[in-house]
Amino acid sequence: HADAAMNHAKESGRNNVQFFEPGMTLAAAKCSRLENRLRAAIESDGLSLFYQPKVSVFSGDIVGVEALLRWYDEELGNVPPDEIIPIAEDTGLILPIGEWVLRTACRQSQAWQAQGYPLLMMAVNLSAIQLNNKNFVQVVKRVLEETQFPPEYLELELTESAIMQNPDRASMILRRLRELGIALSIDDFGTGYSNLAQLKRFPIDRLKIDRSFTSGVMTDVQDAAIFRAVVAMAHSLNLEIVAEGVETLEQLAFVRDLKGQQYQGYLCSKALSPEDFQVFLDSRVRTEVEPSQT
Ligand code: C2E
Ligand code: MG
Ligand code: MG
Ligand code: MG
Repeated sequence: HADAAMNHAKESGRNNVQFFEPGMTLAAAKCSRLENRLRAAIESDGLSLFYQPKVSVFSGDIVGVEALLRWYDEELGNVPPDEIIPIAEDTGLILPIGEWVLRTACRQSQAWQAQGYPLLMMAVNLSAIQLNNKNFVQVVKRVLEETQFPPEYLELELTESAIMQNPDRASMILRRLRELGIALSIDDFGTGYSNLAQLKRFPIDRLKIDRSFTSGVMTDVQDAAIFRAVVAMAHSLNLEIVAEGVETLEQLAFVRDLKGQQYQGYLCSKALSPEDFQVFLDSRVRTEVEPSQT
């Protein structure tokens, strides 16, 4: 079907919205249009990565960065990753895209280091499809070799559901990744159906508590209670905590009181283009140096 859609799109010429075939629902037509545009974007370097800092709760230092997929399409405008990823997963495009993300993130981190910035931990999001692909560990090894990126500085983020699709296989793959020195974290923790007892068998380093809990900690007693319980259990299992989506100083103070180690969120910075991320790093150095000079 994907190839048929490709040919159909080609025959009807560029800029011609001829994806709507008889019998297609509007949703299906929209999907096939997205898919066609996405294939074109992959071939024409139309995808890019933005980078969001990970911050130490205690020191305020930037301790890492998460690579987040961005796509600007001339016809569709900005397409958010929440729309790209499901289509990429349905079409298998997630494999080439995922490999591209990994390679681009490693290269970017190396490029920053070459420009004199400290080497930062680089986190990349993984789809279940990548994890379940039989070549996945090889792909990761190859990218690390090609880019000469130190595995200890790579972190892979997986959701609970990605791991729980095939827990036995996931456990084996994660072990092999861990043996390479790669750090592993559970993304969006709290939104899936797993619990910490189940996660115990996976070689996980960090839990990223989902933004939906962080955003409620000051206003919703249940969100605050869940947040506290997750942190307490994570501490006892020696897992680090990353609070996602910290937007206010009050939320940060909440995380600090619980001794959560890291946070991400608009309070520090949204995801930035590579150029803007550099400007951001420069400005941090300046503000950190200024007080001691006066
Ligand atoms: P995620 O991995 O949980 O990433 C965090 C998302 O929350 C990002 O959205 C980020 O921009 C947003 N965010 C961070 N801090 C704040 C905040 O303080 N407030 C608010 N409102 N939002 C905040 P984004 O970039 O739209 O990505 C959405 C999701 O798409 C990601 O969630 C991840 O699951 C997926 N994704 C992004 N890039 C990739 C990729 O390269 N591969 C895969 N497989 N998935 C990706
Ligand atoms: Mg993530
Ligand atoms: Mg997340
Ligand atoms: Mg998310």
